Amino acid sequence: SHVLVCGGTGCTSSGSEQIIATLEKEIERNGLKDEVKVIKTGCFGLCALGPIMIVYPEGSFYSMVKPEDIPEIVTEHLLKGRIVKRLLYQETVQEDDTIESLNNTNFYKKQHRVALRNCGVINPENIDEYIGVDGYQALGKVLTEMTPEEVIQVVLDSGLRGRGGAGFPTGRKWSFARASVNEQKYVACNADEGDPGAFMDRSVLEGDPHALIEAMAIAGYAIGANQGYVYVRAEYPIAVKRLQIAIDQAKEYGLLGKNIFDSGFDFDLELRLGAGAFVCGEETALMTSIEGHRGEPRCRPPFPAVKGLFGKPTVLNNVETYANIPQIILNGADWFNSMGTEKSKGTKVFALGGKINNTGLVEVPMGTTLREIVEEIGGGIPGGKKFKAAQTGGPSGGCIPAEHFDIPIDYDNLLSIGSMMGSGGLIVMDEDTCMVDIAKFFLEFTVDESCGKCSPCRIGTKRLLEMLDKITKGNATLEDLDKLEELCHYIKENALCGLGQTAPNPVLSTLHFFRDEYVAHIVDKK
Ligand code: SF4
Repeated sequence: SHVLVCGGTGCTSSGSEQIIATLEKEIERNGLKDEVKVIKTGCFGLCALGPIMIVYPEGSFYSMVKPEDIPEIVTEHLLKGRIVKRLLYQETVQEDDTIESLNNTNFYKKQHRVALRNCGVINPENIDEYIGVDGYQALGKVLTEMTPEEVIQVVLDSGLRGRGGAGFPTGRKWSFARASVNEQKYVACNADEGDPGAFMDRSVLEGDPHALIEAMAIAGYAIGANQGYVYVRAEYPIAVKRLQIAIDQAKEYGLLGKNIFDSGFDFDLELRLGAGAFVCGEETALMTSIEGHRGEPRCRPPFPAVKGLFGKPTVLNNVETYANIPQIILNGADWFNSMGTEKSKGTKVFALGGKINNTGLVEVPMGTTLREIVEEIGGGIPGGKKFKAAQTGGPSGGCIPAEHFDIPIDYDNLLSIGSMMGSGGLIVMDEDTCMVDIAKFFLEFTVDESCGKCSPCRIGTKRLLEMLDKITKGNATLEDLDKLEELCHYIKENALCGLGQTAPNPVLSTLHFFRDEYVAHIVDKK
């Protein structure tokens, strides 16, 4: 048998390293070293239940495991074949005492894993395990059977849109970069995930780093680039380490470097570490930072596909977008675009946080409703409290109130109610949450992270925050609400980059859906 233990950041912080060490010690002590293999994987998704482990062949899912539980699991389960029911994730234990498959539990049964398919399944530090689940087959197919134009056509036909937030069609981005004539082009990956509450990209990097490498090499071939950069935040040490191991292994296996698959195509990949500025997630700031300068946004146009990194045509996608690419190449555009809604194809990963029972990572087909995500997959709200709103898109997004609980989530539906997909952070709020405080929280974040290059954002967001402060302290008048709204629109229209242009969104959406709470702050305190 073999035992998978989650080695993602969530479980590592709840002690999975110690679980692995104890497990290995106990396995050896019981003479099972040759029969039981312990494998450290990426994130399973159920971060609230960490540390997590699964024992195969039974598929027994043990949650919140403590080091002192390990001797019992080893002597009872691994030695005598008797599952330790009290330590199982209780949703898998049925009333008649039979054990249900994890895939049939509420958390997993509506999920469909494409980007996360290997997270929690393989050892991300072993390239052979990735190859064992069809890894690098898509790259082989592309390099030996397809022209760059055919690759771009498949991505176009799949309907894949950028998972970093804006939802621009990936195939179109690639075709613009292919059409830009230049002997030097670049492929880049935005792994600077900075939204509060978002950790989708981190989990892919930690759990399936080769999928990103393979996808970037495919993108390089498609647009005619031989060099790629992954811009990853230094605050993700596990991701950085595994990515570097994966790059080194890919080079060793000839899957990066010169003449990959004897096709004549060369592709190399390097890491660049971000120093924690949120604005470096903005594409032009990210490229400026890779170039070695202070990470400040540049004016667009020119767009990166024409003039990007080092002034050369560049394709920049985020981690989750790339993670879909190998599967699209292998299974075809029709397979991918059969999932999702009319204009948003495929699946989306969300990081569930806030007032929700199952804090963690979920991947669902586009068009799944907010209710399904919160009530079924997320297990509802702790303490039987009522759902009040969910914030999507972090500081760039907006709140979805209870009246839109049944909205099928996709790019366009969220925009239509003043929110946005963003990268996929989904923070749930219950009836006790003050929505003005929420707006203030996100605005404080933006004020801190504004790079200061343009005055609408540098000064405007500060003034916005002061106005919110005045409201929460009971010093505002009703007319101030109109001024607040006016300033929001001014910043949106005049800020230079996406950070400033979206910074007022949490204020505008809470003003729109929860104006009475703003009014109550003013009236109550008078
Ligand atoms: Fe910098 Fe804000 Fe202007 Fe963007 S909008 S360039 S973050 S000051």
